[in-house]
Amino acid sequence: MPSPLLFRARPIIQVQALLVAGIMAILVGGGLHLWQGHYGPGADEAGAMISATEADVVERPVVAEAADEAPATTGAPTQTALAGLRQLMDTAEAISLRPETVTRVVEIEAGDALYDTLAAAGLDAAVASQVQTAVRSVYDLRKLRAGQEITLTITRRGVEETLDGLTLQPEATVDLTVTRSAEGQYVAQRIITPPERRRFAQSVTIQGSLIAAADKAGLPRNVVANIVRMYSHQVDFQRDVKAGDRLDVLYEQGVAKNGSRVGEATVIFANLRLGRATHPLYRVIFRDGSADYFNERGQTVRRGLLRTPIDGARLTSGFGMRRHPILGYSKMHTGVDFGASIGTPIFAAGDGVVKEVGWKGAYGRAVVIRHNDKISTLYAHQSRFAKGLKVGDRVKQGEVIGYVGNSGRSTGPHLHYEVRVNNKAVNPLKVSPNTGRSLNGTLLVEFRRGVDRIQREFRLVLSGQQPGSAKVAATEAP
Ligand SMILES: [Zn+2]
Repeated sequence: MPSPLLFRARPIIQVQALLVAGIMAILVGGGLHLWQGHYGPGADEAGAMISATEADVVERPVVAEAADEAPATTGAPTQTALAGLRQLMDTAEAISLRPETVTRVVEIEAGDALYDTLAAAGLDAAVASQVQTAVRSVYDLRKLRAGQEITLTITRRGVEETLDGLTLQPEATVDLTVTRSAEGQYVAQRIITPPERRRFAQSVTIQGSLIAAADKAGLPRNVVANIVRMYSHQVDFQRDVKAGDRLDVLYEQGVAKNGSRVGEATVIFANLRLGRATHPLYRVIFRDGSADYFNERGQTVRRGLLRTPIDGARLTSGFGMRRHPILGYSKMHTGVDFGASIGTPIFAAGDGVVKEVGWKGAYGRAVVIRHNDKISTLYAHQSRFAKGLKVGDRVKQGEVIGYVGNSGRSTGPHLHYEVRVNNKAVNPLKVSPNTGRSLNGTLLVEFRRGVDRIQREFRLVLSGQQPGSAKVAATEAP
């Protein structure tokens, strides 16, 4: 096992201490090791000090005390002088041999590995290497950057220094600690402190583009991206937003214990004020964990369905009356067919909840998605479903729900796609039904209360007061 000796203190002594120390060395025949290395504040005042041997070194505070109490004689010591010196020796010994814990901060320099930094700080090569190995076991050393501070904790006994451990914070949420075990091994630990969620409010006046204004106001980029997405169905940011328009936003983001913002922000409330028109949107979290933005009337923004819920497909059969290719007589074709090879991914045409997934007679393997209380879509003849897809799952527009096949009553690989409004099939290529949802009944009552809370919170946080915990929480899935 490598020696824990890391630093050999440079012995230092004040000139006026020599006399007293000399007397004491004579009295005890050199048996007393009255010394202590002195680092930290004062160590740099070496100009006022001279080097001496270990046995002669007295730390300054002790020296100062000795100078006051030592008898003013250089002749043979009297009984009183002896007693005084013994007392002094006891005190001095108690101070000099008491282990002392000190901390030292070092910094990783450009191009240096952790080992180099530790070795440069005076650590024994074997110790530096052991510490580096320990840290590597819990953290990717390549992620350490120049300028990274490392705080060393050292126990000092006389001139001997032992590294007890060290700490560093390579990331806002990551602390690394290395501690020396009783057996003298260095053990590293990685501690992750999850960021605390806090709410922030801002009111931004738009001059030029929204992004330029947001940057100037210090609004995080991911908040701006969220806002653009939230309003993408109702606002054309290139044409609708004019100088002098305003954006109010209340958002939540993680804050690490060192104060830095971490992770994605969540917009709780936004209000885009374009001219005299206001467009407030409030985030509602449903019991199933899903969330959506609603306007002040409790409606989501209008969102159309994808007309072609499949990539690179060609329309092979339209909606309406046709001669059925298998049955041989005229029959209403209640959807549209897209020819595509087996295995082509099929997308959910809009956000919604999976209502059916499984075999559905002539449709073969089919999925039905309910988008709101009026609109649903159906995807038939699949070869297989998206992995794990089950009834009750919430799906997002564009999410893969299954793959093209030839199951059920089908003449070849294709997707048969239906849109139903109030359970009546409509032409998916002609209508673009609004798949938005609206809150009603007790949900709407609850929503309105939440809106008031959020408005209050926005004003409070904006005025710099402590954020509350207001949120709009609906208790029932729509
Ligand atoms: Zn069809």
